Amino acid sequence: YTTLAEADPEVAKIVEDETWRQFSGLELIASENLTSLAVMEANGSMLTNKYSEGLPGARYYGGNEHIDILENLCRERALKAFNLDPKLWGVNVQPYSGSTANFAAFTALINPQDRIMGLGLPDGGHLTHGYYTAKKKITASSIYFQSFPYRVDPKTGLIDYEQLQVNAGLYKPRLVICGASAYPRDWDYARLRKIADANGSYLMSDMAHISGLVAAGENSSPFDFCDVVTTTTHKTLRGPRAGLIFFRKDKEADIEQRVNQAVFPACQGGPHNNTIAGIAVALKQAADPAFKTYAKQVVTNARAIAKVLSSHDYKLQTDGTDNHLVLWDLRPLGLTGSKVEKICDECHITVNKNAVSGDTSAQVPGGVRVGLAALTSRSMTEEHMDIVADFLHRAVQIALQAQKEAGTKLLKDFVTAYSGNGEASQQLAAL
Ligand code: PLP
Repeated sequence: YTTLAEADPEVAKIVEDETWRQFSGLELIASENLTSLAVMEANGSMLTNKYSEGLPGARYYGGNEHIDILENLCRERALKAFNLDPKLWGVNVQPYSGSTANFAAFTALINPQDRIMGLGLPDGGHLTHGYYTAKKKITASSIYFQSFPYRVDPKTGLIDYEQLQVNAGLYKPRLVICGASAYPRDWDYARLRKIADANGSYLMSDMAHISGLVAAGENSSPFDFCDVVTTTTHKTLRGPRAGLIFFRKDKEADIEQRVNQAVFPACQGGPHNNTIAGIAVALKQAADPAFKTYAKQVVTNARAIAKVLSSHDYKLQTDGTDNHLVLWDLRPLGLTGSKVEKICDECHITVNKNAVSGDTSAQVPGGVRVGLAALTSRSMTEEHMDIVADFLHRAVQIALQAQKEAGTKLLKDFVTAYSGNGEASQQLAAL
C-alpha cells in the first residue's frame, strides 16, 4: 500500500485543507462535532473491506468471526451508554446515517401511507420527520406516509403541546415523532406519551442532536417513554457519521425482528463495519466520566453564548437554551440568516442559516443556528464564549450597518478586506 499523499496528492491536499479549515476557524454548526483520533482510526481501518450482511451469528457471508464480536460489542456499549436494560431494550447499530435510521424505523413500525406527526421543519424539526411544502412532497417521509406536522407556539418558540394534543386527537397518527434539528429546549416526553397513548400511536424520539447530552444525563431521557429511539452518532455523541435504532422489547414480541429486517434487507445492504468500529469507540468514550464533564460544558457554553447575545437585546428562540444550541431570530433586525452566515463564513466562523417559526423560505430564512459541541471539544469554556459571542455580535452589526446605509458597499468592502475575494462579495450582495 502507498499512503494517500503518495497515491493521490490531489485528494490528500483537500483533506489537509479541510483539516486546517476545521481548526483555524470557529466551528459553530450545531449538527457537527470533532470526533476523536481513535474513532477516525477505527473508521479508516481494514474493516471497511468486509461484507457482513445479516446480524452477528447469522450472516450471508463467511469470514465474519471478528465482525460478529465487533457488532456485539457495539450493541452492548450502545445499551450501556444510555443505561438501558438489555432485557427491555435492543439496538441495531447498522444504519448508515440518521436519515436511513429514521426511514428504517418507520418501515418497522408503520405501513405505507399511514399517518405521522413530527415537528415541522420551519419549527425546528428534521426533513425526515414528514416534511413537505405546498408544492411538493420533499422527503421519503412525506412521499410514503401521510404527514401532519405539529408546531411551536410562535410567541414563545416552545412546542405547542396543547395544539398537538388537539390535532393528534383528530388526525389519529400511527406514529408521533419527537426530536429536532433546531429546538433549544428539552422535551416533555411524559406528555407526548399521553398523547400517543390517547390515539393508539407509537412514540418515537429522534434524539440525533442531543444524544450525547442524554447519555451524559444533561437532557432528559426519551427511553423512559418512547417505543423507539433513533439517533445519529456524529453530533453531540461525537462519533463517526452513522445512525442507531433502539427499540423497546417488552411491548411487542416481534419488534426486534421488524427493526432488524427494516434495516437489512428492507432499507440497506451490507453494514459499514469500519463505521461500526468507530461507533463502538465513541460509545466507550461516551460512557467515560470525562464525557459527562464535556456534555455539561457544552450546555454551559451554549447558555453563556445565549446570555451574551441576549444582553445585546437580540431575540433568541425561547429566550435561551437547555441544550447545545441557540436559535437566533434575526427577523426583528431585518436581517436574513443567509447574510449573517455568509459574513461569518468570510471571518472563518461557521454557522448555518436556519428557519425560525413562521419562515417560509429554507433558502433565505430569518435565523441562524449556533451550536457549541465542536468548540467545547476544543476545550473551550464559558470564558471563551464572551469572545465568540462578541465576534457574532460584530458580524451582525456589520450587516446591520451596511443595510442602514441602504447599499452593499460596506458589506463588499468588509468581505474584500477579510477575504480579498471579489466573488464572495458579489455573492453576499445577492443574499
Ligand atoms: N435527525 C435529525 C434530528 C437531524 O438533525 C439529522 C441531521 O442533521 C438527521 C436526522 C439526519 O442525519 P444524517 O445526516 O446522518 O442522515
